[in-house]
Amino acid sequence: MRPTFLITLDQGTTSCRALIFNDAGQLVTSKQAPIKQFYPQPGWVEEDPNEILKTQVQVLQAAYSELIASQQVVPSQIAGIGITNQRETVVLWDKKTGQPVHPAIVWQCRRTTKLIDRLRAEGYAEWIHERTGLVLDAYFSATKLMWLFENDPDLLVRAQAGELLAGTIDSWLIWHLTGGRTHVTDASNASRTMLFNIKTGQWDNELLRLFGIPSQILPQVVRSAGTYGTLDESILPGHLPLAGLAGDQQAALFGQACFLPGMTKNTYGTGCFILMQTGQQPIFSKNGLLTTVAWDIGHGLNYALEGSVFNAGSTIQWLRDELKIIRQASDCDTLAASVSDSAGVQIVPAFTGLGAPYWDMNARGLISGITRGTTSAHIARAVLESIAMQSQDVLHLMHQETGIPISDLKVDGGAAVSDLLMQMQADFSQVPVDRPQITETTAFGAAALAGIGLSVWPDLTQITQVRASDRIFQPHPIDARYEARLIAWQKAIAAARAIGCS
Ligand code: ADP
Repeated sequence: MRPTFLITLDQGTTSCRALIFNDAGQLVTSKQAPIKQFYPQPGWVEEDPNEILKTQVQVLQAAYSELIASQQVVPSQIAGIGITNQRETVVLWDKKTGQPVHPAIVWQCRRTTKLIDRLRAEGYAEWIHERTGLVLDAYFSATKLMWLFENDPDLLVRAQAGELLAGTIDSWLIWHLTGGRTHVTDASNASRTMLFNIKTGQWDNELLRLFGIPSQILPQVVRSAGTYGTLDESILPGHLPLAGLAGDQQAALFGQACFLPGMTKNTYGTGCFILMQTGQQPIFSKNGLLTTVAWDIGHGLNYALEGSVFNAGSTIQWLRDELKIIRQASDCDTLAASVSDSAGVQIVPAFTGLGAPYWDMNARGLISGITRGTTSAHIARAVLESIAMQSQDVLHLMHQETGIPISDLKVDGGAAVSDLLMQMQADFSQVPVDRPQITETTAFGAAALAGIGLSVWPDLTQITQVRASDRIFQPHPIDARYEARLIAWQKAIAAARAIGCS
């Protein structure tokens, strides 16, 4: 039998990618192109929705052509398309012309900090958390849309008249990929807007009222697996079904086959994103973890807890670009491995404050414990340890708040190639660390959702089988050195907070 293929569109913060997997879960082709970011004022981040769309279509067409040409594939072997995307970023566009009425406001954009302060002062933080599972912050879509309407009241008039549509990047892409026929999102993306009630699984009228958002502009919420539209023939032939959809971190959780409560993944990129599958019950954190919808594949909503580390791989870049003690990221491993420990050196990379469980935006980074004998190798080792330690702080909190022990940790992202870092994570967290052969887990997750939706893979067991481990790092037994290291880390964190910038 001829193999079947699935295409993923992966629309990230800085690039658009199209990746094609075969039905054995192997990556056969991928194309990538960057997109620009614009910084019109300090702290503001925008992108051009038309550039995102054009770039995404170009990489899709390029990957498709390469597959057809190189693998002797006939178009009918392509089962369909899954989409995964940067989350929270919003676009507002004209329903008739399909043109955006404002640049996309990117998740990183801080322009709504004052709106957030106002809502917090009015006492809404807890009320919003109970409905959305989110911490009141400018990061999420709601205040970005609120800002658009407060900034230009004419847009609100047009929205109320039914002339405009709004959505996260998935909705913007799908509207155009289907020739303006389909306005949808899935619950994993909706749950990052701060307009979606994660208990009822619907847009929340009281939240819409609070943020001043007309409900008619919002997309219909569809399943994360299952056909929700077909690709317009002007882009590619064959009426390809669009059949998988999830935000990037949730897609990675799916791609890592974290299907049972307690199964957890960590993506080691610029920062770290840690998600724990919690099953069909949302668990609400008291210490700043986010409760989010993992996906809806037709058995009701599935939830996850999410925690992030602001600076992880970026600390390795800092060694390369600012301290200049390594020439490329992979040198960090070699340098760190040249010493057996960090000789008491601690680095807390709180360049932009500390995330969960500390939530201290005023904390600032430090290097402590240096002596006359400290070398660049000790610094490199302390950097890797800081990534593992910060992740462990989040994992510990997840365990504490759910009562669910973490049996193993699935890993991916650019810095997960570091064997030394993975071994440190296993040791500090005392869990096996499982690195898959395909580290493109986000893209694979979207393909897997489409594969489930199109019955290429009949059920989740197949996804678990397709996800093969590259290496499992087993934890070394705890010794006195390990305990001392954890105590020293907590002292360093306390110092980083004490010397903070406020
Ligand atoms: P993002 O999606 O956030 O851009 P990626 O998943 O592409 O991140 O990972 C990029 C990060 O991975 C960089 O911050 C870099 O420092 C780190 N990295 C890349 N290669 C290595 C390596 N060989 N060892 C350790 N870290 C690495």
